[in-house]
Amino acid sequence: MSKYKVERILNIPVDVMTMEDVKQDLVSNEAVGDKLTLTSVNPQIVLMAEENDTVKTFIENSTHRIADGIGLVKVSGWTKGDIKERVTGFDLMQEVLSYADEHHKNVFLYGSKPEVVAQAAKNIETDYPELNLVGWIDGYTKLSDKEIVQRMNEKEADIVFVALGSPRQEEWLSRNMDQLTATIFQTIGGCLDVLSGATKRAPDIFIKLNLEWLYRSVSNPKRLYRIFQLPVFVAKSLSWHRKNGKH
Ligand code: UDP
Repeated sequence: MSKYKVERILNIPVDVMTMEDVKQDLVSNEAVGDKLTLTSVNPQIVLMAEENDTVKTFIENSTHRIADGIGLVKVSGWTKGDIKERVTGFDLMQEVLSYADEHHKNVFLYGSKPEVVAQAAKNIETDYPELNLVGWIDGYTKLSDKEIVQRMNEKEADIVFVALGSPRQEEWLSRNMDQLTATIFQTIGGCLDVLSGATKRAPDIFIKLNLEWLYRSVSNPKRLYRIFQLPVFVAKSLSWHRKNGKH
């Protein structure tokens, strides 16, 4: 369970916290060894969680629910909430990797296409030479959940990144987290595509203007529908807030 102030957006919990908070938690959890689940919440995920109980329960039970979308920050502002900044899953992953590097942790990657995860693994090893990249499995593998879990445990993974897209990554962790001996988990969507160089991050100007989502939606026809989800998300969230009052 989260220790932060929780803000409910369309009844999905998001934590009011900064990147600095998460960084501190990674270190202070070291002695305790609790399982930390870092998960992104964005407008698409909120709309999906409304219909998908497994995803909703996974988010409810996660320890760190980051506001990974400017839509969430805006809705929070319009409803006089406290979420002031966006924490992107990509930036958070970099922080987790830096933590792993500094503390020589064992890292396992699961998800994305075979060539993407292999290249991302290589790039991570180059950029974070002090962490141990103990294994990776692509997201189209024929291995069973049991075999994947066994591999992660055999390799003594401390940190598992799951890159299967939503809702697969949340569903996979819901089914398997209890059997895993790792203590830090992050759902990372398409981060390995960016880390491998297969997908470019939006140009800086789009990132600065908080329009990275727009750039990614228009540059990938498969994601174009997401633009139309945004007004639906805003309308539903504001209406939910009107009916349910304060956060
Ligand atoms: N992915 C996967 N297995 C699947 C479907 C998707 O490993 O069965 C990977 C995909 O290769 C990509 C990541 O999940 O690296 C995110 O996929 P997508 O863009 O569909 O998800 P989103 O970015 O919308 O969360």
